[in-house]
Amino acid sequence: MKHAAILARVSTEDQVEGTSLETQVESCLAEAKRRGYIVLPSDIYREDGYSGALAIDKRPILHQLWEKYQNGEYDAIFVYRQDRLSRSLAVFAALRDEALKVRRCGTKGDGFIFVQGGFEDTPEGRLQSNILGSFAEYEREVIRIRTITGKKKVARQGKYAGGAQLFGYKWNRETQKWEIREDEAKIVRLIFNWYVYGDGKSGPMGMVRIAERLNQLGVPTPSQARGTRRGKDSTHWTDTTVRSILTHTAYVGTNYFWRGGGVAVTPEVVEKMKDAETDGWYEVEFPPIVDKLLWEKAQEKRAGSRGGFNRKRPKPLLAGRIRCGVCGAPYGDAYYNKGATLVFKCYGRTKLYHQDGSPRCTSPILYGEALTEEVKRRVIELLHRPEQLRQAIEEYVRTLERRKEELETLLLPVTEQLTKIQEKQRRLADAYIDGMLPPEEYNRRKMELQEQERAVKSRYEQYWPELDTLKKLEQSVEALKHAIAEEQFDALYQPHDSTVTEELAFAAVKDRTHLTVGFPQKTLTWEELLDRLQITLWVYQDRVEVRGIVPIEDIANLEYCWN
Ligand SMILES: [Zn+2]
Repeated sequence: MKHAAILARVSTEDQVEGTSLETQVESCLAEAKRRGYIVLPSDIYREDGYSGALAIDKRPILHQLWEKYQNGEYDAIFVYRQDRLSRSLAVFAALRDEALKVRRCGTKGDGFIFVQGGFEDTPEGRLQSNILGSFAEYEREVIRIRTITGKKKVARQGKYAGGAQLFGYKWNRETQKWEIREDEAKIVRLIFNWYVYGDGKSGPMGMVRIAERLNQLGVPTPSQARGTRRGKDSTHWTDTTVRSILTHTAYVGTNYFWRGGGVAVTPEVVEKMKDAETDGWYEVEFPPIVDKLLWEKAQEKRAGSRGGFNRKRPKPLLAGRIRCGVCGAPYGDAYYNKGATLVFKCYGRTKLYHQDGSPRCTSPILYGEALTEEVKRRVIELLHRPEQLRQAIEEYVRTLERRKEELETLLLPVTEQLTKIQEKQRRLADAYIDGMLPPEEYNRRKMELQEQERAVKSRYEQYWPELDTLKKLEQSVEALKHAIAEEQFDALYQPHDSTVTEELAFAAVKDRTHLTVGFPQKTLTWEELLDRLQITLWVYQDRVEVRGIVPIEDIANLEYCWN
């Protein structure tokens, strides 16, 4: 059964017209009953002495009713005649139209229903509505209605205002704060990692492939996780679902409320809204789920794969990591000698950058290949210093733990299904032993369950060996932690063209009689390694400074210069 509210209004000048509050209420009650709505006595709103020319923020009773309607407490609002709702055409039309949109509770209501001459879907009604739609006054009223309500207050404080909560987060009523939901946050991090670095077996993955992989693994979609079902995307991950996660600014710490309905909070939208100084658009701090570097890389990759001019060449390792120490501009990559020679040069050298007439930068142009090799060599060298080694090993232990957690999260739905199947198998065997099943029936059902088990297991075939290895490595991890504490370890980094093998040797003495020795190995891409160390280069006239989380010596060798 649907619930409705009734709004009746009289002002001092109206009294003579004979539309008393009670006449209006009675007509509305009859109409509501005829249409099959329930109206409780507490759902009747009487505005006594309010002019119909007032805006909604000057009418507290209408304001309160509107809030409840937006919260989904009513399916419809009955009004005797349209002038009872408002005497201003713009206010009236804005309210009427807004009432038919998706509400704060995520559902649509039936809007305002008029007992007398409400304009419904008639040609006149549509015409009037079209004319109104072009009026600035109407636009202003729409904004006023949307923002004057409690939603604005709630949004401004960054509080939960109803509707589905963002994947990865939950609203804590007690602390009145947004918190991370670890189970979902893991999936978010996984998506970012797959997109930027790949899954450790193959290179970076596209959005379509990520969606496919998540579906294969039976990872619940955001709508499934929230129990909301909208559209066909709700049961399957699609590239759109993946994109909405990869672009959401909340995952890196800033969300935006209230956004006038259904706008995805992508960096592009945020930029636009900020410029427009849109009313009712609030910045809200969220606890970040992915680190800034990873998030930025994802945006960079997204920007690179957009807009047609896809690079045929792979992106140079140092691209985006070099800045000019002379003028502060970034260094870009370019190809000389008909594309044979990669160079890096300051953007400040180009005309375009100096339209204001300031002198062009004279910082050196660097040979790409030679510089890259030198940086790689220094990074490897650096990693063999003891204090850096400790960091590297600590990081290694963290990646192992993260990866194990990730895999366990991914495999959770599968593990749950397997447990259920095994439980069924056990009960089946019990029934057979108790003589409640004939042998052929028992065999038939047993085969069925075995078939189910095989099907479920095949879904995570590719991950099983890895998880197995990681579980075995758990012991080594303990030993590694110990080795770090005792400073008894060594590491070997073997550079290859596009990757680096990291081999950690350690000896841990548990007590005087037990010695553990381990050699875990891991392959990193150069990209990943330079990210891990946060390497950036600053170019000056006579040297290149290499900066990162660890100190590296300057490169003072002019053979890297083009001229
Ligand atoms: Zn420069």
